[in-house]
Amino acid sequence: MRKNARDDPAARLGLDAGAAFGVSWTFQLDAAKGDTVPEEKKSLIKKIRSTGAMKKLMADYFNELKEAQDTGSAKIAWCTSVGPAELLRSFGFQVYFPENHGALLGASRIAAELIPAANAIGYSPDICSYLTSDVGAYLRKKTPLTPAFGLDGAPKADLLVYNTNQCRDVQDWLAFYQREWKVPLAGIDSPRNLGEITKNQVESLASQHKALIPLLEEVSGRRFDIDRLREVMESSYRCTQLWKTVLKLAEHKPSPLTFFDGTIHMGPAVVLRGDPRAEAYYKLLISELEERIAEGHSAVEDESLRFYWEGMPVWGKLRDHAETFAGHKACVVASTYCNSWIFEPLGSKDPFEGMALAYSELFIVRSEEYKEEYLARMVESYGIDGFIYHDAKTCPNNSNNRYGLPERIQETLGVPHVVINGDLNDLRMYSEEQARTQFEALVEQLHERGELR
Ligand code: SF4
Repeated sequence: MRKNARDDPAARLGLDAGAAFGVSWTFQLDAAKGDTVPEEKKSLIKKIRSTGAMKKLMADYFNELKEAQDTGSAKIAWCTSVGPAELLRSFGFQVYFPENHGALLGASRIAAELIPAANAIGYSPDICSYLTSDVGAYLRKKTPLTPAFGLDGAPKADLLVYNTNQCRDVQDWLAFYQREWKVPLAGIDSPRNLGEITKNQVESLASQHKALIPLLEEVSGRRFDIDRLREVMESSYRCTQLWKTVLKLAEHKPSPLTFFDGTIHMGPAVVLRGDPRAEAYYKLLISELEERIAEGHSAVEDESLRFYWEGMPVWGKLRDHAETFAGHKACVVASTYCNSWIFEPLGSKDPFEGMALAYSELFIVRSEEYKEEYLARMVESYGIDGFIYHDAKTCPNNSNNRYGLPERIQETLGVPHVVINGDLNDLRMYSEEQARTQFEALVEQLHERGELR
């Protein structure tokens, strides 16, 4: 039996981990109805003990946002997930990430009922379903943050800040709230499809970060403090290094964690980078995963195949996917998605150049050639047997199967792949049957090639 919903804010969400990206696939049933998770279903998924500490940390994060909103103790800045969070935090803003809420709406499986509200005011069903779910949640006044943390909606922003490095949708998304709340909107316009990143590009991006300072001073009521920025950057860098260590532990055969675990435990790296509590959490998680390795425990019992997940998670189906792969003794050991919160350049001496480079050298911002080389490195370091590409209907930016990349990788490295059609949030675009057939096809193909360990 799972926890009573009254005891646990996460359970009140119908979730285990309490907050996306720390969202849960462990208990996606509706807590309010008192559903239980059948024992035979739980048995394939090995729970990570540290999850409890992460749930507490994520709950603290949301409670602090609520307090800032209710009491005015701090200004609230919305920031896109790979936006200038460190700069905002250095001014004392409570930083809220709308994509985190988008993922939460997907994981709690209410996105499909919210999206039509956004469609009705002109936001196309074909654009980012984080955006349409989130705008729909605002219009319908419905969010899982209410039962979990008593927030009557996403916390109202004093300032909206984006970086278009990942897509244009984030700017349009925040522009909706600018019109609603009449608060300032500002951001970084990033070049995309980058091969080698040039000095000029870094300088231009660093200048754009600096140009935000007068507005941040005005809204926060604080003067810019370079020492405070350095302090936040250093913490963010240490967090990123610890998160990298977590993910690299999956290079071990058998792996102590899966991609599905990663989507839960990345929560602090996403919303609390720059806050030392995130660092403390990852130290705890690393020691547990190292213990698993030392004791010979694996995330998937009798791991015999190792896969790479390319593209967005299907938030409402994480649990199903985790069980399906575990049922085939296959472990999805790595993903571009989880790796996207490793920001090496945050350790740079010059904080502005560090942010400029960190937020432009991401996979999503890069050229096809770079992506091919990157994935080849992943095959090598993680011992990948096959790729799963998720073609997410409403996120072409994170769907890397559309211009021949999987075929080229297969040809050059001999690593097979399948593509599943779906979406990050809009489950109307997803076919359970097609996905399962594709997963099984990949497993069978590898069985036939005799690639089981
Ligand atoms: S990258 Fe994709 S999922 Fe993320 S905000 Fe842009 S369109 Fe949405």
